[in-house]
Amino acid sequence: MGIQFEAFVVCEKTGRLVPTGYVLKQDRIEASPKPADDFSFKCPACEEMHTWSLDDATVRLVAR
Ligand SMILES: [Zn+2]
Repeated sequence: MGIQFEAFVVCEKTGRLVPTGYVLKQDRIEASPKPADDFSFKCPACEEMHTWSLDDATVRLVAR
């Protein structure tokens, strides 16, 4: 319980790896349902909206 994977991308402003809020069940993006159609999220590092694609993402194990 409490183990999930989440997609992270590099913030283009700060260069930091930030969570997109897109949660996966496995560590393989291809095996998970795609986000609806919108790959935007509010960046926790710079507080601006970023767009991203699955090709840009790094999957990390996260605990909830
Ligand atoms: Zn950012």
